[in-house]
Amino acid sequence: MKAQVLHKYDPDLSSGSWVNLEDVDDPKIEKSTDVVVRIGGAGVCRTDLHIVEGIWMPHMDPDGNSLLPLIMGHENAGWIEEIGPEVEGFSVGDPVIVHPKITGGTCLACRRGHDMHGDGTFPGLDSNGGYAEYLQTTSRNLVKLPKTLAPKDVAPYSDAGLTAYRAAKKAAQQLLPDHSVVVIGAGGLGHIGIQVLRAMCAATIIVVDINDNALELAGKGGADHLVKADGSEVDAVKLLTNGLGAEAVIDFVGEKGTTKKGLDMTRPMGSYYIVGYGEDIQIPTVDMIITERNIIGNLVGTWAELTELMALADRGLVDLETRHYSLSEANQALLDLHHGKIQGRAVLVP
Ligand code: ZN
Repeated sequence: MKAQVLHKYDPDLSSGSWVNLEDVDDPKIEKSTDVVVRIGGAGVCRTDLHIVEGIWMPHMDPDGNSLLPLIMGHENAGWIEEIGPEVEGFSVGDPVIVHPKITGGTCLACRRGHDMHGDGTFPGLDSNGGYAEYLQTTSRNLVKLPKTLAPKDVAPYSDAGLTAYRAAKKAAQQLLPDHSVVVIGAGGLGHIGIQVLRAMCAATIIVVDINDNALELAGKGGADHLVKADGSEVDAVKLLTNGLGAEAVIDFVGEKGTTKKGLDMTRPMGSYYIVGYGEDIQIPTVDMIITERNIIGNLVGTWAELTELMALADRGLVDLETRHYSLSEANQALLDLHHGKIQGRAVLVP
């Protein structure tokens, strides 16, 4: 099959040509519950740029030479091409979206439904992913797509969408109609999070972003108030929330100073949900005690949550803004993402 292969890290992302289109061996059914998916779409994620930079090396590749060559791509959807003999409930040709983490299903975390905390692999990060024509996964990871949803239009839901969904769902479960929620960053994840909040709670949604186009997209997604991040965004949010800040703040950026601003926008007894990452969170412990604020981490989402998100998408309650590239244009897609030229999400379509 054809695949885009990463052969070497590029810490300052200066090369611009990071992956190579090559003929590689087709993935095979190895275990009886394995499935080979013909890729219909593979989302291009900022995490892929972080892999190229080598940020994940200490976790995935500590000696620097055991992971590469790697086929990236952890946001995959497509059609079932081949199934192992013990696969039940799926047939060749079924359209599916692929949960990004492959787990065994028997450890305690798995049995409690905490897929992201189970033992396993994450194709596209630690093994070959979906920047290719075919992907090996297992039947445990698949969610069948409703007829309304095409793989190339939903692939990024499997990671970006799922992550946004989990954080927005956690917040929505606490938010009452007289509450406010702030979303920092209305990009690839944020624009999904806003729609999930709109669909799942009645709180006032305030969106903060530096980019006018992102704010416009947020308005279409159901934001009640749009705040330009021009340095006065904390004051602007306070003005909209009786001077106290919001009950929930979801930070999809997590760098360039948003963590301090996000906490400043969180009212006493409120919760600050961190999704984007890059900088350290710094807050005096005494402030945490006096204000009883919560800081909540969020890691992708569960298989059940991916099913929930597909139910929202099926009913048209969330809609993903995508730009399609052919598999051969993978470097262009990564470059456009790197240069902030993508609204919503880029998807490779083989
Ligand atoms: Zn991703």
